[in-house]
Amino acid sequence: MTNSPIQNIKYNNINFFIKRDDLLDNNFSGNKARKFYYFLTNQLDNIDTIISYGSNQSNAMYSLSVLCKQKNYKFIYYTNHISDFLKNNPNGNYKFALQNGMNIIEDKNFDKTNIKVKNNQLFITEGGAIDEAKYGIKILANEISSYIKENNLKKIKVFLPSGTGTTALFLSKYLSIDVYTCSCVGDDEYLEKQFLQLEKNKLLHPTILKKEKKFHFGKLYKSNYTIWLDLKKQTNITFDLLYDPIGWQTLFYNKDNIDLNNILYIHQGGIIGNITMLQRYKRKYNLSNH
Ligand SMILES: *Cc1c(COP(=O)(O)O)cnc(C)c1O
Repeated sequence: MTNSPIQNIKYNNINFFIKRDDLLDNNFSGNKARKFYYFLTNQLDNIDTIISYGSNQSNAMYSLSVLCKQKNYKFIYYTNHISDFLKNNPNGNYKFALQNGMNIIEDKNFDKTNIKVKNNQLFITEGGAIDEAKYGIKILANEISSYIKENNLKKIKVFLPSGTGTTALFLSKYLSIDVYTCSCVGDDEYLEKQFLQLEKNKLLHPTILKKEKKFHFGKLYKSNYTIWLDLKKQTNITFDLLYDPIGWQTLFYNKDNIDLNNILYIHQGGIIGNITMLQRYKRKYNLSNH
């Protein structure tokens, strides 16, 4: 569940270091394994149910379903909408979370402030933006620090694309080197607000790199698919289709301001989410199988 490898890859003739958190565990990989590490490894007294909410294809939803299955907790998950197509053809994170026993509740008026959490229930904010995430992310930071020290990499900086910003914030807090990120879910202002909620001291916040253009989260962009496929061909690594394509494009967009040859990219998993994304890309752009 910890100690993922750091590898060297070449992409577009540039050498990158890559932290393979996608290889942590088959069922529990990527940054959700780090964020929920605390709940995996600690006995939660009197808790028998986890409640959360968000999109019906969320990586966090799937990871929580694995956690609940392993720990024998009930898992209640609220979502605004589930399309008839998905109900009739369960797929991706939705399908596997259901297989793990998730009880999904469709509620178009869901409001997290209305949820009354009982003593036996643990409520987890959307995407795992919780303070307990710091325990697992601190371990990730320590693994990175050790590698940098052992290999005497003085100029290295870390990059990872953000959703809630939880992973980037705690990494930045626990690492003595700079952490770069970009917003993928909301805009840069939203991301800064997220950072502030978890850490008041702005000096400890990651640096948000500017994007070439605005991306609507979950929307299909030909450029996202193209760079994803290109990365797979050149590096033999499958990245996720929601965050990583925006991350890589943003890195190259900032190539004049940052030293691309000294970037450690964090692969944060999320590969199960690719199943439905690829189907959508294939339908929209009439792509052949890869
Ligand atoms: C959840 C997730 C993110 C975003 O992580 P945050 O800590 O919410 O910023 C990025 N990439 C992948 C693959 C994820 O599953």
